[in-house]
Amino acid sequence: MITRSIGGVSTLDGLIADLPDGMVVTDPAITDGYRQDRALDPAAGKPLAVVRPLTTEHVQTIMRWASAHRVPVVPRGAGSGLSGGATAIDEGIVLSTEKMRDITVDPVTRTAVCQPGLFNAEVKKAVAQHNLWYPPDPSSFEICSIGGNIATNAGGLCCVKYGVTTDYVMGLQIVLADGTAVRVGGPRLKDVAGLSLTKLFVGSEGTLGIVTEITLRLLPKQHRSSTVVANFATVEAATEAVLGVACQMRPSMLEFMDAVAINAVEDKLKMGLDRDAAAMLLAASDERGRSAAEDAEMIAGVFAEKGATDVFSTDDPDEGEAFVAARRFAIPAVEAKGTLLLEDVGVPLPRIGDLVGGVARIAADRDVMISLIAHAGDGNTHPLIVYDPSDAAMAERADRAFGEIMDLAIGLGGTITGEHGVGRLKRPWLANQIGPEAMELNRRIKAALDPENILNPGAAI
Ligand SMILES: Cc1cc2nc3c(=O)[nH]c(=O)nc-3n(C[C@H](O)[C@H](O)[C@H](O)COP(=O)(O)OP(=O)(O)OC[C@H]3O[C@@H](n4cnc5c(N)ncnc54)[C@H](O)[C@@H]3O)c2cc1C
Repeated sequence: MITRSIGGVSTLDGLIADLPDGMVVTDPAITDGYRQDRALDPAAGKPLAVVRPLTTEHVQTIMRWASAHRVPVVPRGAGSGLSGGATAIDEGIVLSTEKMRDITVDPVTRTAVCQPGLFNAEVKKAVAQHNLWYPPDPSSFEICSIGGNIATNAGGLCCVKYGVTTDYVMGLQIVLADGTAVRVGGPRLKDVAGLSLTKLFVGSEGTLGIVTEITLRLLPKQHRSSTVVANFATVEAATEAVLGVACQMRPSMLEFMDAVAINAVEDKLKMGLDRDAAAMLLAASDERGRSAAEDAEMIAGVFAEKGATDVFSTDDPDEGEAFVAARRFAIPAVEAKGTLLLEDVGVPLPRIGDLVGGVARIAADRDVMISLIAHAGDGNTHPLIVYDPSDAAMAERADRAFGEIMDLAIGLGGTITGEHGVGRLKRPWLANQIGPEAMELNRRIKAALDPENILNPGAAI
C-alpha cells in the first residue's frame, strides 16, 4: 500500500508502477512549465508530478490512484486558458492530455471522434480533408486543445451565427473522479434518452470529470465570406452600429476593437489600420453566392448610417482574413504594453453600450489603462486591464477595476464570463451572478460526482 508523503516522490510510486515508463514526470525543470495557464496566476502551486496519458484506460488508472490517495488532479489541455482553470495545486498532479491526439472522421454522419489533446486548428484541418467544417473558432485556435474547448465551452468569432462549442458536442467519454469511464451521448442525430448529461459536462472546467473522447458534429464546408471593416469616431457610434446590424440580419462575424487595441495591433502588424479611430468594427457574411455580397452591402449601409468615418468591403478571402488575423492578434498585441488582467464579461445585446461606457468610467476612476475588444455581436466583451505589477498602487487599482467590471456586468443582467470560464480568478464573483439557489445546485452536483473534491478543487464552482 502506498502512503502519502508530503512533497515526496514516494507518494507516486504506485502510479509510476501502473503506467508506462516516462508517463509520470517529476523533474521540476519540466513540471514548472505546467504550473500556470495564460492567466499567469502568481498563486500557482508546485505539482507533485505531471502525468501525460495516451488512452482512456491510462486516465482511469490515474483517477483510481488519485481517488484512493485523495490527491487533487488538475486537468490540462494546452494551457491557453485565461481564468486560471488549469493552475497547478501544491501536492496535486497535473493531468495533461497533450499526447491524446487521435481523430477519425465520418463524412456520412458528418461527425468526428477525437481525443482531447488535438489543437482546435488540427481538428479543423483534419475535417477539412473531407470537405467538412468544425465551426467554433476561439482566437487561440492554433494554441488551444479541443478538450480545453469542451471544458470551457469555448466561443470565438463565428459563434454569433454558428453557436458555441456545446452546439457541436454530440457525445463524450468521461473519466469520473473514482476512475469510472462513462459515455454520454453519441453520433445519433436525434437522441433524448436520459438527462442531458453531455451538456452538463461541457463547460464544467475539469471539475466533474476528465474528457477523454469527444464526438463532434460537423457542418459542410463554409461558403466564401464577404467582409466589411469600418472605423468610428466614437465607441457609442460603433456599439449603436452593432445593434443596427443585429436587428436586421445574422452576420457570420461581428467584432469590435477600441483605439488602444487598434494601435497595439498596428504597432506590430503595420497593416494600415486607422490609428485615429475610436473603434473599429469587423463584420462578415458567409451566405451562399450573391447573398454574401448583398449582406455586406446591408452591413456597410448600417455602419455608414450610424456614423462610420469610413467603410471598406471586400470579397477577397485573403484581404478579409488579414483583418480577422488582426482582430485575433489583439490580446497578444495589447499584452506587449504590460501585464494583463483579462475580463470576459457579457451582457444582453441591447446593454452593450452601457457595458462599454461603464468600463471606460471604471478605467478613468481607477486611473488604469483598459483596452476593450469584443465578440460584439454576442454581447461578449474582453476588457483588458493593463498594469505594471512592480507598481503596487497600480496593481491594487487594477485589481479593484477587475472586480468592478464584473459587478457592472452583473448589474446589467450580464455574466462574469461569456467563454473563458470562471476558473480560479473569477470564482469569488460567481455566487453574485447566479444566486444562492443555483450555487447550491452546482455544489450538490459537484458533491455527487466528486465527493472527495479531488477534481480541479478551487476552480469554477
Ligand atoms: C490569445 C488568446 C485568445 C483567446 N481567445 C479565445 C476566444 O476567442 N474564445 C474562447 O473561448 N477562448 C479564448 N481564449 C482562451 C482559451 O484559449 C480557451 O479557454 C481554451 O478553450 C482553453 O483550451 P486549453 O486546451 O488551452 O485548456 P487549458 O487552459 O489547458 O484548460 C482550460 C480548462 O479546461 C480544463 N480541461 C482541459 N482539458 C480538459 C479535459 N480533457 N477534461 C476536463 N477538463 C479539461 C482545465 O482543467 C481548465 O479548467 C484565448 C486565449 C488566448 C491566450
